[in-house]
Amino acid sequence: MKPEPEEMELRPSGLFIRWKDGHESLYPYKYLRGACGCAGCVDELTHRRVLDPAKIPDGIQALDYMEVGRYAYQFLWSDAHFTGIYAFDYLRKLCPCSECSR
Ligand SMILES: [Zn+2]
Ligand SMILES: [Zn+2]
Repeated sequence: MKPEPEEMELRPSGLFIRWKDGHESLYPYKYLRGACGCAGCVDELTHRRVLDPAKIPDGIQALDYMEVGRYAYQFLWSDAHFTGIYAFDYLRKLCPCSECSR
């Protein structure tokens, strides 16, 4: 089954998602911003991460989001970055909880 969010919320501490299977994920914004896979953050040819995680401001936040074609979210970040598209299955793999990162 493809992972699908049942509920999502931009919380002060990060992006919260409750998945259809009942699993809950909370992604700290800095972590999520650092995982951006857009052409500006990852070199398309070498797949090397161009974005230096140390350059991401500590207080970075997602200011807004929109759903992209029912398969992904796109965020507007407080550093004015917005080109990253986070597919639901990518987000599910990124879940930082102790159960998923085992
Ligand atoms: Zn990016
Ligand atoms: Zn998890």
